Amino acid sequence: MKDCIFCKIANKEIPTDILYEDDLVMAFNDIRPIAPLHVLVIPKKHIESVVELKEGDEILAGRIIMVAKSLAEKLGTAEGGYKLLFRVRKDGGQEVGHIHLHLLGGGPLKEIIRPR
Ligand code: 5GP
Ligand code: ZN
Repeated sequence: MKDCIFCKIANKEIPTDILYEDDLVMAFNDIRPIAPLHVLVIPKKHIESVVELKEGDEILAGRIIMVAKSLAEKLGTAEGGYKLLFRVRKDGGQEVGHIHLHLLGGGPLKEIIRPR
């Protein structure tokens, strides 16, 4: 989608350190990390939020979680633990309107409370 920052990353219009990519999803470091390890996993196709997931998106939704799980292992945070977070729409604090799963780890994590 035009003017969507994560579509631009998925289409490689914006250079990003890609940690993982396949036919459906991409993972890269968050530009403003809030944990020692902060990765975003996104679908390559534009879907606004979890609300807009439809029947038929099960494989895609599952892939996003499985990629986060694999990266957590690869990046060494699986043993200690980590957090997976989908913010959903305005009240959920979502700022970028293209689904992304936050993988937060790399040490003991504080609760994430973001004042609005
Ligand atoms: P949200 O608040 O929507 O759940 O999270 C959006 C996340 O995207 C934030 O953590 C923010 O730092 C990250 N972000 C926003 N723009 C960019 C960008 O251009 N590149 C990267 N790598 N991360 C971004
Ligand atoms: Zn998009």
